[in-house]
Amino acid sequence: MNSHDVIIVGAGPAGSTCAARLKKSGLNVKLFDKKVFPRVKPCAGWVTPQVIEALRIDVGDYRRENTFQPITGFRTGIIGGRMVETHFQQPVSYGIRRIEFDNYLLKSSGVPCEFKPVKNIVRDNGRWLVNETDEAPLIVGAGGHFCPVARLVRQQTDANGSTPGSDSKNPNSIVVYAQEVEFEISEAKASSQSVNPEVPELYFCGDLQGYGWCFRKGNFLNVGLGRLEKTGLSSHVREFWQFLRSKNKVVAPAPSHFLGHAYRLYAEKQPIIHQDRILLIGDSAGLSYPQSGEGIRPAVESALIAADVIANANGDFSANSLAAYPQRLVARLGPPKPYQASNWLPAAWLQNIAASLMATKWFAKNVVIDNWFLHRKQGTLQI
Ligand SMILES: Cc1cc2nc3c(=O)[nH]c(=O)nc-3n(C[C@H](O)[C@H](O)[C@H](O)COP(=O)(O)OP(=O)(O)OC[C@H]3O[C@@H](n4cnc5c(N)ncnc54)[C@H](O)[C@@H]3O)c2cc1C
Repeated sequence: MNSHDVIIVGAGPAGSTCAARLKKSGLNVKLFDKKVFPRVKPCAGWVTPQVIEALRIDVGDYRRENTFQPITGFRTGIIGGRMVETHFQQPVSYGIRRIEFDNYLLKSSGVPCEFKPVKNIVRDNGRWLVNETDEAPLIVGAGGHFCPVARLVRQQTDANGSTPGSDSKNPNSIVVYAQEVEFEISEAKASSQSVNPEVPELYFCGDLQGYGWCFRKGNFLNVGLGRLEKTGLSSHVREFWQFLRSKNKVVAPAPSHFLGHAYRLYAEKQPIIHQDRILLIGDSAGLSYPQSGEGIRPAVESALIAADVIANANGDFSANSLAAYPQRLVARLGPPKPYQASNWLPAAWLQNIAASLMATKWFAKNVVIDNWFLHRKQGTLQI
């Protein structure tokens, strides 16, 4: 049996970030991931500067071998409606490719990762036995939406009879279902492409139940769409592709296969993210920003807070001792708010209002970009 201080399940941005900080604190950490890295992860690949700063990424070093696309503006609007461009003097975000970004974070963490799915987690005498090969007194769930550690938390919560707050089947939990495709475009196509790499395009669905994006990062194009309902998602994605094609944003017919994934938004209800000897971080905790669906920043921030709480726990991983984690996370993110889906408005009204609002420069800049997408008022998490 291999013994560790902490076992982390999942080596995405949340898992790798937490692992790196715990290692720096002198703890013996082991990561597991079911996929072999570098691995593909469905994602538009948009990150805010606060992520790069919180991770203390040396941008010069990163961009030597990886795509790093500065973003100085956004084109926003309703699909088929008038588009508005918002520009900034300096980069306000960056475009990365998850296959590269996640691999970079994992490698720079210096923490060993076993590329094997975690299938078996058993509590034994105050320790967790994982896959019958590894053990630790604390387990951190960073396995995304289908994290086995989050499942364990739900089972224990249900068994204790308390209201489950982290269940994707819970009517109070708001889940985004998204599909995307990322592909390389040739130099010639890239220069004739009508998508400006510095200005990603965001197209909201008329019913405001989701949005699509067309995002060029260097010579890679990422196209996708996410919605709050699973039903009909593939049709929405294909219609969106046809729309982009009619605008000369993409030239080829829709690919036969889009990559899909789901993740929970931090809305409606406080998720249960810790128990005795367990913490959940990133998507496994359901922390993505409600309006934008940005999940990398909360994944990284929750990982940094969790690592700090663990390092300061002096080996006491009881639920009481770890309670500082949800408290500090709420202090950072604020309590989850009810999701405003404007269901009380008739669909036709909603479409008209949304289309008119989105078409104004003021709304696009102050509400959509600054407030929903950039969270500019909230600075970098300093830990
Ligand atoms: C289509 C799409 C587009 C998105 N675009 C953006 C965007 O542009 N910007 C943004 O900020 N957010 C975006 N998001 C959200 C973002 O991808 C997630 O919030 C983010 O990846 C969360 O990081 P994480 O480390 O918590 O989980 P993940 O990145 O999902 O990592 C979890 C890891 O756990 C591993 N794992 C799962 N189960 C097991 C198991 N049993 N054993 C071992 N390992 C396991 C997985 O292989 C994976 O590597 C998007 C999401 C989707 C679906």
